[in-house]
Amino acid sequence: MQALRDDSIAVVPDLTAPSHALSTLSDDERLFQDSVYEFADAEIRPHVREMDEHAKFHDQLIEALFGLGVLAVEIPEAYGGAGASFFHSVLAVEALSRVDPSVAVLVDVQNTLVINALVRWGNDTQKRAYLPKLAADTVGAYALSETGSGSDAFALTTRAVEDGDAFVLTGRKLWITNASEAGLFIVFATVDPDAGYRGITAFIVSRDTPGFTVGRKEDKLGIRASSTCELLFEGCRVSKRDVLGDVGRGYKVAIETLDEGRIGIGAQMVGVAQGALDHTIGYIKERRQFGKAIADFQGVQFQIARAATEIEAARLMVYNAARLREEGLPFLKEAAMCKVFASEMAERTTSLAVNLYGGYGFVKDYPVEKLYRDAKIGQIYEGTSNLQLQTIAKQLLA
Ligand SMILES: Cc1cc2nc3c(=O)[nH]c(=O)nc-3n(C[C@H](O)[C@H](O)[C@H](O)COP(=O)(O)OP(=O)(O)OC[C@H]3O[C@@H](n4cnc5c(N)ncnc54)[C@H](O)[C@@H]3O)c2cc1C
Repeated sequence: MQALRDDSIAVVPDLTAPSHALSTLSDDERLFQDSVYEFADAEIRPHVREMDEHAKFHDQLIEALFGLGVLAVEIPEAYGGAGASFFHSVLAVEALSRVDPSVAVLVDVQNTLVINALVRWGNDTQKRAYLPKLAADTVGAYALSETGSGSDAFALTTRAVEDGDAFVLTGRKLWITNASEAGLFIVFATVDPDAGYRGITAFIVSRDTPGFTVGRKEDKLGIRASSTCELLFEGCRVSKRDVLGDVGRGYKVAIETLDEGRIGIGAQMVGVAQGALDHTIGYIKERRQFGKAIADFQGVQFQIARAATEIEAARLMVYNAARLREEGLPFLKEAAMCKVFASEMAERTTSLAVNLYGGYGFVKDYPVEKLYRDAKIGQIYEGTSNLQLQTIAKQLLA
């Protein structure tokens, strides 16, 4: 082998040259992600178990997240936001999810769904009215799903009936993330059930609107600190000024935001898997069996090497989808691929973490059983894995 070496052609890397490697972050991106992770490590980690047990964020957390700027990543500076990119949102979600995927989904919904929809579809008056609030202290929620319409989202039945200068909303939404904390809701309803998806319209609804109440909160398997509630609309008058986009074009608002939102869920899944692997690497170096650390067994080494490889693959898929979106290039297939792959990878990786902790992996005194429960949601919300596969197949067969 020595004979094959030729030092005369050795390449000296130029570390100052711009890199096109997907995993290379700009200084600004790296600093941002590091600062979010440092915050999560110091301010969130001590509360993770208690928040999971009580199914609630701790009292000052949301205020602190606003202070950090992660709840207004893409809001332009003119409206009080960070004026950063979609890619920054993805980096924040990944970093938070390494510590607590419940906090990550709060940030994800706020940025990739609610703010994204308002920035793209809101008119100037709506932007001036709502973006500064979302940047300062108001959590947003995104309400599409109903009892009878999940994967078949446009079969929704919440009605919006025109009445003078308003629409009157009647119906019920289910599974709405952030509903306990939110002050502002993007709600999808139909103005004409006979028109199918062409009747669907998006509305901006404030929490204090008469006729609107937040209902029962779900008791969940994972991401327990994140609230998931039903919403009730009983003759709720929403001004025509608060129609987001055009009447009958809400399906476009939903499709376009969810296409992007699923990249955020991919990032959440990369984060939860990385968090589980980080814990596991620490644990297996400490835990001794047969007179040595279990990390010394090649069988264990191969398992964590494979998990790290899968995390890296998922991360590159997430970053690639986010960069494509950022550059205005087609990203639909890549977004669906990154969500389906990252969420299945996260289930495998967190399951391995439980296995490598042995009995300690199965109890709440150690962190990995929670991450295993948290990972499961990635295959369900913002389009189940089957629906992602349907999107990918459609693109391949078009
Ligand atoms: C914790 C949590 C948070 C959520 N947050 C929000 C939120 O903030 N806003 C919101 O609007 N919604 C939210 N949802 C709803 C979520 O998006 C839906 O649960 C999801 O889209 C699946 O819909 P469903 O539950 O009705 O399942 P169904 O659509 O009934 O699907 C059940 C099963 O059938 C499969 N299936 C359905 N149709 C097909 C098909 N055509 N081909 C193959 N398989 C199919 C699915 O893949 C799935 O495995 C949340 C859900 C949860 C659990």
